[in-house]
Amino acid sequence: MFLVTFTFGQAFAGANLIQNGTLQLSSPSKMPYEWKLGEWAGMTGTHEIIPGKSGKAIQITVSGSDETVADRGVAFQQLHPTTVHQGEVYHYRDYIKGTVAKVYLDVEFLRFDGSKFYRGITYSKPYGEWMRVDDTFTVPPGAVAMTVLRVVKDNGVIAFDNISLWQDAIKCEKGCVSFAFDDSRGQQLVPRILHDTGIYATFYVNPVPITEKWEPIVMPLSTLRYLARYGHEIANHSATHLHPKLLPPDVLHNEVVWSKHRIENLVNRSVLSFAYPYGESDATVIAKVKRFHSSARGVEVGQNAINTDDYNLKTLVVTESMSVAEVKAYIDEASNTGKWLILSFHTISRAKTGAVWNYRAADLRALILYAKEKQTHIITVSDGVARFLK
Ligand SMILES: [Zn+2]
Repeated sequence: MFLVTFTFGQAFAGANLIQNGTLQLSSPSKMPYEWKLGEWAGMTGTHEIIPGKSGKAIQITVSGSDETVADRGVAFQQLHPTTVHQGEVYHYRDYIKGTVAKVYLDVEFLRFDGSKFYRGITYSKPYGEWMRVDDTFTVPPGAVAMTVLRVVKDNGVIAFDNISLWQDAIKCEKGCVSFAFDDSRGQQLVPRILHDTGIYATFYVNPVPITEKWEPIVMPLSTLRYLARYGHEIANHSATHLHPKLLPPDVLHNEVVWSKHRIENLVNRSVLSFAYPYGESDATVIAKVKRFHSSARGVEVGQNAINTDDYNLKTLVVTESMSVAEVKAYIDEASNTGKWLILSFHTISRAKTGAVWNYRAADLRALILYAKEKQTHIITVSDGVARFLK
């Protein structure tokens, strides 16, 4: 059976869901940013950074293999699982080079309850030159997140470079709509509405208010974890919601990069999307965000098109004074023009409260049902960036 598939001419549709897939964020002494080695049954891997297919690559020397133990290995893998949904189609690609007999491409899937199951996708026989490996797989029923594993079971040397994972493109012929919730508000009513309507949303959260339980409206950690497990996207809205342009470099790093790691550790999911606090950004802020996220959203009003800058995604921030009809007009525009609309909400309450950053739960539900009725694709923001045809 010839299991290495070379697929030429395949459109690379959108953003890479693998973080630091080119391994440029790597220093000789540490594991590359966003990667780790899994080791089991007495096997170990030691790594070094080598010249790659382009720029840097990682080379792993594997030892301790005992052929009498079937379940053994060293796995090169992403630090945190990627959120997925049943039926989605993913394309994986990397470059390999080495002396080990075989390199397996396996996927570890997580279920809602945290239990795991595995699928063997393919294996390849590397040699002394860089070789491209491609494969495609579909997310099976029951999976809410996944980690792609590059597993070696025998002693030897293996190198990896230019690793990518992307989804089938969508064209938004009838429009795409994302529902986003900012500022880690309590959101007692939102999970039920999303569940009832069967959609996945994006929550831009601030980890410090959540873990320190800032009163009175902050999201409980249990809600955050539930949303992540359920398949909603958890995204970074900075550590504490400071004005990003006024910050010294170390504080900016904390607000953007530490915050992302903190969220990833709290929910055990890869965090890909960022939203600028107060919608504020400048070249320094954007450069920082860009290095560690696949997109960023401001508060500029508008629809997103094929040529929209992924680090200046537009949105409609829905406030209490906006009528359902007014917001529906934006959904109509997305639907009529094939564009991608991100609707951003804050607190969701049963009744009007007189606060600007509030919206009625019944009206939110009505908008979701309307977007469904118009047959728009309802997608998370990271899915939009990964799939909206560029
Ligand atoms: Zn905010």
